[in-house]
Amino acid sequence: MTRAIVLSDIHANLVALEAVLSDAPRGVALWVTGDTVGYGPDPADVLAALRDRDAFVVAGNHDLAVAGKMGVNEFNREAADAALLHRSLLSAEDRDLLGAMPLIATRDSFTLVHGSLRDPVWEYVLERSAARACLQRAETPHCCNGHTHIPAVFEWRDGRGSVVARQPREGEVIDLAKGRVLLNPGSVGQPRDGDPRAAWLEVDTEARTATFHRTRYDIPETQRRMRRRGLPPFLSERLAYGY
Ligand code: ZN
Repeated sequence: MTRAIVLSDIHANLVALEAVLSDAPRGVALWVTGDTVGYGPDPADVLAALRDRDAFVVAGNHDLAVAGKMGVNEFNREAADAALLHRSLLSAEDRDLLGAMPLIATRDSFTLVHGSLRDPVWEYVLERSAARACLQRAETPHCCNGHTHIPAVFEWRDGRGSVVARQPREGEVIDLAKGRVLLNPGSVGQPRDGDPRAAWLEVDTEARTATFHRTRYDIPETQRRMRRRGLPPFLSERLAYGY
């Protein structure tokens, strides 16, 4: 039995991460479904904060690119520029740590992955057929992913083999006892669902609930830090719009 908070796509946004951690319950496990670095201003401090909290972290595409485990050819210009900057900001030790993160891991009744179980690094699960393919491959009843930066619920309806998809409301509680489900907490550091607040998920495998949360943070401060780092302006501007 576990209580945990699930974070995804923190993207080196330390100000957002600290706001979420101070909003979240204390003394619970911390699981991260990838893209800890890339885009934002504070990759080393975010990795240190996760280490301090003994977080369990799987790798995303940005993590592998910053680690040097893959190139940046598949990235758009701004993402590639940020990934290369992050390589230079991190120690060899931090880059090795990123490169050694698992792609898929199991915690309690949850499988954790960045993209999907069909393609852990790159697949965007935005619709039901992709969610079904992911849930079919899961060896646990519950999965959490990330990568899209949009909170999502995909519920498997046994018998009919159909998957129901929806965007959760803030504060919505999912009943984990109802069966197989894929949950995307949304993004801490760069939300893309039109709500600029940091998104995160709280799970309780004893009460069998998962709750979607949003937390306000100091967006102008993150933008200032990004400008100081010389990151592409588009990456800081989009934070204000949640896109
Ligand atoms: Zn991401």
